[in-house]
Amino acid sequence: MTEVDLIEGFRDPEHMKALAALIKKECKSKINIMEVCGGHTHTIMKFGLSQILPDLIEFVHGPGCPVCIMPKERIDHAIALASMPNTILATLGDMIRVPGSKTSLQKLRAEGKDIRSLYSPMDVIKIAQENPDKNVVFFAIGFETTTPMSAVLVQQAIALGLKNVFFHINHVTVPEAVDAIMSGGDAKIDAFLGPSHVSVITGYKIYEPIAEKYHTPVVVSGFEPTDVMESVLRIVRQINEGKSVVDNEYARAVSREGNLKAQELVNTYFKKREHFRWRGIGDIPKSTLKLRAQYAAYDAEIVFDDVLPKEELNDHKMCICGDILKGKAKPFDCKVFGKACTPTNPMGSCMVSSEGACAAYFKYGKLSLKGATA
Ligand code: SF4
Ligand code: SF4
Repeated sequence: MTEVDLIEGFRDPEHMKALAALIKKECKSKINIMEVCGGHTHTIMKFGLSQILPDLIEFVHGPGCPVCIMPKERIDHAIALASMPNTILATLGDMIRVPGSKTSLQKLRAEGKDIRSLYSPMDVIKIAQENPDKNVVFFAIGFETTTPMSAVLVQQAIALGLKNVFFHINHVTVPEAVDAIMSGGDAKIDAFLGPSHVSVITGYKIYEPIAEKYHTPVVVSGFEPTDVMESVLRIVRQINEGKSVVDNEYARAVSREGNLKAQELVNTYFKKREHFRWRGIGDIPKSTLKLRAQYAAYDAEIVFDDVLPKEELNDHKMCICGDILKGKAKPFDCKVFGKACTPTNPMGSCMVSSEGACAAYFKYGKLSLKGATA
């Protein structure tokens, strides 16, 4: 059986139609569902779920993309580190395309700086071993999903006695962001789709305080279209029954407790940072991790403190990424969407990241303008 065979069952049109019919039959009132993760936004847009599901189901996009929520000042940190002599900067995904205050890592690379976009974080160790006379800085990003990999890298760097590898840690945590959005009181959200990747590591228990505090059902959902539709059905049923609990649609990989070994590894090397300014959302206490003090020799923020800019920077004034990440607006509401701002010429991070809501709307949004609130 191939990977395609495994996935196809979760994309079966008949199964999708049957789920849509059940949701239509059972949904009695308007439900605003925030998909916390950009991966879900892409599934919703790619498979046209907004069009298949009844109008009463409204998807609202959330803060779950590590590229989208990275504030400009942190990107400027990466740019400053990459600009140091004798340095290789490595990072993941679309991070190199996100504009900082004056330039991007991609532009800097075109100017000759050694900036590497990695497929696997483990390559950092290899790069450090192959370049003993250079500083290798890993600009680590991601939610709870990727944090254990960074912890393994620190563990390996120590075990191998590497002295030329440093970590700029930007690992963010989902529950605090969701709590910040809900406590802000602006977003009208009745339920959440929880990202299953995150819960594979953390367990679904991390959402229990949110469900209880805000009386919002949370369904941890896989990323295939029938996963999302089954999760929506479970949300509809909870709301009909007056319930607000955490439910686990992705039982094939997620448990309540999660991966205890990975959690222990993360706790060994990282601790909560007191404050972190999320792009567009603002300061969220205890929502990010940093290296523990005993690993200061590996901490790029400490070792290279003198080159790091200290200024806080806001988005371009036309960009409404902040409101999109808080569930208050949709990409079609942005006046420069698809005009001054496109994936090849992005003004904000939501258009850069392949998981960003603006990028998803640009790629798949022509299917329908149902998402527009303007
Ligand atoms: S890291 Fe995982 S949870 Fe976060 S946006 Fe990517 S896929 Fe979603
Ligand atoms: S379309 Fe561009 S400028 Fe507008 S919110 Fe999205 S990323 Fe920002």
